[in-house]
Amino acid sequence: MGRAFTVISTAVITAVLTSAFWVFTYNIGGSSDARSNGRVEGTGDAAIVKRANSPPVEVAETVEIGPTGLAIPVAGIKRDQMTDTFTAARAGGRRHDAIDIMAPEGTAIIATAPGTVEKLFESVGKGGTTAYVRSEDGKWIYYYAHLLSYAPGLREGQKVARGDMIGRVGHTGDASPAGPHLHFAINQMNPGERWWQGTPINPYPLLAGKPAKG
Ligand SMILES: [Zn+2]
Repeated sequence: MGRAFTVISTAVITAVLTSAFWVFTYNIGGSSDARSNGRVEGTGDAAIVKRANSPPVEVAETVEIGPTGLAIPVAGIKRDQMTDTFTAARAGGRRHDAIDIMAPEGTAIIATAPGTVEKLFESVGKGGTTAYVRSEDGKWIYYYAHLLSYAPGLREGQKVARGDMIGRVGHTGDASPAGPHLHFAINQMNPGERWWQGTPINPYPLLAGKPAKG
């Protein structure tokens, strides 16, 4: 599907911005139906927020809508440093359903959005050391995998704010020691779904402000 682009010139500068990571927000018009199924047709007021006095940026007019106000979940990583590997093939014919954000081992992983730590899980031979954080509205799970370690004191039930440290980039599970990275997924959760369930949406356009590679 082609994706139209528009230049947004009204960046919201009043958002709370901390240090070196990007934050962007979507203010989407349209019905709550459109929102709840994760896709919004037509134009909305989308804005990418960089830092004060940043130039306008291009964002997709039609995007899969995740939770608002996502931060790139690896400290210091810019949107142009990410690649879209959402549809990449993985073992057993599975689709990746996530993106890998490459970063040096030990780099801080931060919460992409506010939420509650729902599960800290050791996924042997797969995601390794992982964290599942559910959004405040309950509709999304943010999944962080291959962690070297958790942030000190991180525990299930804990509330995190956007930008709070989740852990550090590693290569636990089936990640290659030669390529430490954060495996990051966003799952849309239907009522009653548990932490291991949900339907993945592509985090890439939400984080990078660019269309999915497809
Ligand atoms: Zn991955």
